[in-house]
Amino acid sequence: MSSTQPASPINDNNRLGLDYRAEAERLPWRGGIWDVHTHIADPAAAERYFEAASLYGVERVWTMTQLEQVDAIRDAFGDRIAFIAVPNYEAKDEPDTFTTDWLRRIEGFAKKGCKVCKFWAAPRGVDFAPGLALDSPVRREGMRLARDAGMMFMTHVADPDTWFATRYQDSAKYGTKAEHHAVFERMLDEFGDVTWIAAHMAGNPEDLDHLQGLLDRHANLYLDTSATKWMVRELSKHPGEFLAFCKRNPGRVLFGSDVVASPNDPDERWFDLYASRYWALRTLYETGYDGPSPIVDPDIAMVDPTQAEDSTARLCGAGFDEGTLRWVYRDAAKRVLVDGGSPVS
Ligand SMILES: [Zn+2]
Repeated sequence: MSSTQPASPINDNNRLGLDYRAEAERLPWRGGIWDVHTHIADPAAAERYFEAASLYGVERVWTMTQLEQVDAIRDAFGDRIAFIAVPNYEAKDEPDTFTTDWLRRIEGFAKKGCKVCKFWAAPRGVDFAPGLALDSPVRREGMRLARDAGMMFMTHVADPDTWFATRYQDSAKYGTKAEHHAVFERMLDEFGDVTWIAAHMAGNPEDLDHLQGLLDRHANLYLDTSATKWMVRELSKHPGEFLAFCKRNPGRVLFGSDVVASPNDPDERWFDLYASRYWALRTLYETGYDGPSPIVDPDIAMVDPTQAEDSTARLCGAGFDEGTLRWVYRDAAKRVLVDGGSPVS
């Protein structure tokens, strides 16, 4: 019976019972990884995060963290962690959180040397607070402030197709994916002198031809690959095209995970939560694996209620070559975020 027992306890981040410590050794890439999209709450969360991330070769990360935690994290981790300016989401119901307080925070982050400012504009923002549309007046004010402080922008536009098919069915309220991208393209032009990083493959890993058009039309645009469940589910449907897309656009696709590390993550959960994201993403990029993802993906049952709630996506590896891996895993982030964002011609 021992041969059929999983190496580790089964949970929603590890349906396959993988030993994530042993698995990290088996993945081929040894060149280091820079993760440009994480949410690390504080120094204690960062300590645990790096226990998992370091096993998977993550050397440097960019995090969306409250302004009040920046100094403590920097004191503990130095250059390993850089910051992306965000509003104070913990005070999301206060009237000034996304207006005057946010504008003050942009200046505060800039004073601490922060080089990236996040403008989150998911369709569900209409349920969250007024003024979160990417082209709202207060957003434009924040963008001018951030630009004048020398920051580049990170944004979140649209959401998975699975969400537009379900929770965003009321398109009069939430807009269509195409409408969100039309606003995004106008803002890319309006702030055409700013480098933009569009998180989650600009919200459209489902349609790489559309993404190619975005990159071709906007030389100031870069993409990050964060949101592991979404990326694994959709990119696994066209792994060959994903590899071709990254090869065709060297330097414009930056590795990100969207790991959320909080001191409140329970003791029995945090390691698999963080490690599973790197296992799944690295397996997608580096290998020819074809099998179940270890991570439960609730979107599968959301769009098809006949599927079990603990379904996991099919993960199909894209088998990136070494040169493409180097661009996505590190050199694109180095060029954009460290060396100054010169577009690749
Ligand atoms: Zn995120």
